[in-house]
Amino acid sequence: MTLIESFEKLDYSDALESSKEAQSWLDSHGRRFGQFINGKFENKSDADLIASLNPSNGDLLANIEVANPNQLKKAITAARKALPAWQAMGGHGRAKVLYALARLLQKHTRLVSVLETLDNGKPIRESRDIDIPLAIRHFYHHAGWAQIQEREFSEYKAIGVVAQIVPWNFPLLMLSWKIAPAIAMGNTLVFKPAEQTPITAMFFAHLCEQAGVPDGVINIVNGAGATGAALAAHEGIDKVAFTGSTSVGRAIRKATAGQSKKLTLELGGKSAFVVFEDADLDAAVEGLVDSIWFNQGEVCCAGSRLLVQAQIADKLHTKLKKRMQTLRQGTPLNKSVDIGSLVSQTQYQRVDELVQNGLEHGGELYQASATQIDGNYYPPTLITEIDSSHPLAQEEIFGPVLVSMPFRTQSEAVTLANNSRYGLAASIWSENINRAMDVAPKIKAGVVWINCHNQFDASCGFGGVRESGFGREGGKEGLYEYLQPKLLKKAAKPKPLKVELKDGNENIDRTLKFYIGGKQVRPDSGHSFATYNADGSLANWVGAGNRKDIRNAVSAATKASNWSNQNGHLRAQIIYFFAENLALREDEWIKRLKEICGLTRKQAKKEFHASLSRIFSYAAWADKYDGAVHDAPYRGVTMALPEAIGVLAQIAPEENPLITTVSLIAPAIAMGNRIVLIASERYASIALELVQTLETSDIPAGVVNILTGNKADLAKQLAGHAEVDGIWCWAKPEIVAQVESTSAADLKRLWVHIDGDRDWLDSQQGEGLEFLRNATEVKNIWTPYGD
Ligand code: NDP
Repeated sequence: MTLIESFEKLDYSDALESSKEAQSWLDSHGRRFGQFINGKFENKSDADLIASLNPSNGDLLANIEVANPNQLKKAITAARKALPAWQAMGGHGRAKVLYALARLLQKHTRLVSVLETLDNGKPIRESRDIDIPLAIRHFYHHAGWAQIQEREFSEYKAIGVVAQIVPWNFPLLMLSWKIAPAIAMGNTLVFKPAEQTPITAMFFAHLCEQAGVPDGVINIVNGAGATGAALAAHEGIDKVAFTGSTSVGRAIRKATAGQSKKLTLELGGKSAFVVFEDADLDAAVEGLVDSIWFNQGEVCCAGSRLLVQAQIADKLHTKLKKRMQTLRQGTPLNKSVDIGSLVSQTQYQRVDELVQNGLEHGGELYQASATQIDGNYYPPTLITEIDSSHPLAQEEIFGPVLVSMPFRTQSEAVTLANNSRYGLAASIWSENINRAMDVAPKIKAGVVWINCHNQFDASCGFGGVRESGFGREGGKEGLYEYLQPKLLKKAAKPKPLKVELKDGNENIDRTLKFYIGGKQVRPDSGHSFATYNADGSLANWVGAGNRKDIRNAVSAATKASNWSNQNGHLRAQIIYFFAENLALREDEWIKRLKEICGLTRKQAKKEFHASLSRIFSYAAWADKYDGAVHDAPYRGVTMALPEAIGVLAQIAPEENPLITTVSLIAPAIAMGNRIVLIASERYASIALELVQTLETSDIPAGVVNILTGNKADLAKQLAGHAEVDGIWCWAKPEIVAQVESTSAADLKRLWVHIDGDRDWLDSQQGEGLEFLRNATEVKNIWTPYGD
């Protein structure tokens, strides 16, 4: 045989990673794990058990005890008790603990990687080279944030006790994404791993003992969905951080409605992988391997929708099929395997069923090898000849299944990429950076990769929009999810109207109209209600808005989308002009505030000038609240860009009507949102009195829309409206609960408060970065460079 012939016949031999150490670690714990509560392991002989299996061969790894309700309560109580001492340790004290966790994980990299692969079925190459190093990096990076917390977040404090629930696809990596930022900022927590993959969390619990994590700071409970549900809904929890399916995210949103809990949801996706005709096709093919066949496609941000420019579609498909034939699938512990086993037989069947059912609607299937249910090996799969309405193009499959669709033009590519109820991530493949940078902001997603896919780092925020959830993990934005503003003074309650109300009016009757689409319009219902001055005399009549008015206002705000594309300088000029026009009416406003709110002249003047100053502040911020460039460890730049949320509904507080109204409108429009504001009920006329000033301030039609009426009804309509992207709400607890529960349908981004939570006249509380952060969502754009 010639050298060339033997070279051509070369095959891979097995390069198995030894599982000996991992197996003996499991043996040393009797292959049974209970709960980690208050720094101690707790076993119960009568506990219900879940078998944790190696999905590639069905071997039992360990039996896992399901936490009972008393244990859950005990874990939450331990976390609560541990809070004061943990916070008293200060940033440096916590940094040392996080650093110790990072070091310990690093010392056990090989063992943890093998445990992860045994439990999840992912190739050892990925757990060893990607999952575990990224998890370690997360602890190092957040040790740093703990160290500088007091300086960087001086106006914020920890939220309290956090419930953290994760899925099975990146068990230890998800654990690090959750635990590192939470404890760095001084929270304590109860963590629940997925029932399929709890082993590395149990290993981590042992490291907590060695790292000097104080008792009760980190508690880990095991169980299935019911345990997660009980944990999330428990009254002892201040915040829930969840990663998993959209349906469970929705259930958690509903279950926690009205509980005043902060919530972050990192949910599913159907991310677009957009290849333009000028892309480097070989690089794009490798990108697809990393995008949809990484971790068997069990990745929330997998590029599962290939959108390819029509003229190169055949060429790309041919290259891709050729590459698919060379992908090696098999025993996950084999170091030369590309694709391992799906996490369970249930997941295998789910993927297979979705594909088979989907193909009934058409589509051409290409698989490089046969499916093998023994070992749950689902082969890399490509489906072509489908359109964007096809179920396989819309449903998250969560397996190694890629669907491909052609597009003709750049704008069609954007439309197709956005034709999804999800909005987690996307990648753009083009050698023309101008084109890529033009397309990136147009894609509705929390992360956009340019000429790469599935890049992650602790310094860069990750998270979605739409039904992919809200909130960010990683980066500075991820830390704010575990913080709340310090020192909130309560607002002064509005004075009750004690006097007898008089509906008669000797002046000319005034009925204030709504402001919708840049016009003053009458309410659709034909109903109005009276608003009163502080002395009980009639102030004005205002309209009682209904569902139709909400529809009209949202439609006007939707149409005004160009506002979101304007630059900050232009928005600033318009907001300054608004302040200038308001200043012209000082005497009139002081009179109004005295009459309607019963303020003294001095108080009215104070509120008026504070309102002017507030508008000025946001005009100032409009072109200054910009993003960051993150120093992620790769050859490239990651830009974190704050983007407008879109159509923002605002339910205004009941107190200080002038300053509260401008405090809501100004930051929202400064950041490029279009708003539908529901005015305070008691002071409904004040918001409508602002209309004349708004009308003359060059604010484009539809950017600001103002309605009055029954707050509870209108808030419910807005929470249920599919074109509303986010809601700010200050209202009674029952309205807040309604908004939280109704908005679960499409997982709107919420910022909700019980009325009276802050002193609006205080510039520390009534304006600033907290408002700007809630008016935006950060998009991280990854751009590698170099040839
Ligand atoms: P789930 O959303 O069902 O589970 C995620 C976590 O939540 C698990 O720890 C689970 O517990 C727990 N859980 C389940 N029900 C509830 C509940 N009602 N309240 C609180 N917690 C709950 O995801 P799965 O793991 O079952 O995966 C199903 C599908 O979800 C996948 O096929 C995929 O489409 C999607 N998914 C998305 C992920 C993402 O990162 N975006 C990650 C994983 C899955 P337990 O597993 O122990 O039952």
